[in-house]
Amino acid sequence: MNLNLPSKITKISSNFLHQKQVDIFIKRDDVIHPIISGNKWRKLKYNFQAASDEGCDKILSFGGVFSNHLHALSYACNYFGFGSIGVVRDTHAKKETPTLSFCKKNKMKLYYLDRNQYRQKKSIQTINLLRKKFGKFYLIPEGGNNLLGIKGCQEIFDEIDIDYDYLCSPVGTGCTAAGLIKGMKNNKKFIGFAPFTKTIEQSENIKNFCDFQLYNNWELISDIHFGGFGKIDSNLIKFVRRFKSDFNMELDLIYTGKLFYSLFNMIKNDAFDKRTKILVIHTGGLQGLNGFNFSYS
Ligand SMILES: *Cc1c(COP(=O)(O)O)cnc(C)c1O
Repeated sequence: MNLNLPSKITKISSNFLHQKQVDIFIKRDDVIHPIISGNKWRKLKYNFQAASDEGCDKILSFGGVFSNHLHALSYACNYFGFGSIGVVRDTHAKKETPTLSFCKKNKMKLYYLDRNQYRQKKSIQTINLLRKKFGKFYLIPEGGNNLLGIKGCQEIFDEIDIDYDYLCSPVGTGCTAAGLIKGMKNNKKFIGFAPFTKTIEQSENIKNFCDFQLYNNWELISDIHFGGFGKIDSNLIKFVRRFKSDFNMELDLIYTGKLFYSLFNMIKNDAFDKRTKILVIHTGGLQGLNGFNFSYS
């Protein structure tokens, strides 16, 4: 597979940032690969290795109907010759999203669980049911959120050759955040932008992987959800369009758009000292734009 690694780091500049004397650098993980973009490759890499070491020829994972994770997983499985099963949190009455059509095109088998069942996805009963139905498979948790996913995300530090004060990234499950928090030097601070109304699960997940006694130079910010996960409004759309014309860079509406919207607000409100250097991981997610009847034109 042709991967654009190490991904480049670009600095964005504008009058606003210049006035505020804040530097923003963006690690362009969105351009690692046209399909398996952003943090998805980093989280899958060692899981694929493990699946192959364990002699599994099928990989099963979980996600919602717009899941960037299932999207990337289906493509990678097809490419590397694994069978794939996507267990889908079905909230849209089986109306197929472009994401799920893409998964099917990559020969992913889809299996739907209703919201209640999906909440029990880690239970032994559910796993047994899936084993009975699909036989032997390698299981990747939702969002690639396991130790191997974290290990892959930690590797990002091998590719960073600039100095910075703050490291920022969007937060879904918190897997990427955990990798970044673990790998970061402790004179830096991590800010995770979590586009949810509540972030208890994400915090717990990060603390699960990163002992809070050792790793406490991080915080999650969640006042940027626009009404909840996946919710958008015209201000956000306007912001993302403006970002594209100002910096020639696309953002998705679920994660990276909300991150920069929030970060720019913080800068506007002087949340950072002068001469602060901020490094943002662009985690990709641009396929999700297909899910909205939305175009930049
Ligand atoms: C999947 C995804 C995330 C969430 O990553 P986690 O490791 O689950 O926290 C963030 N941003 C984008 C664009 C994603 O596709």
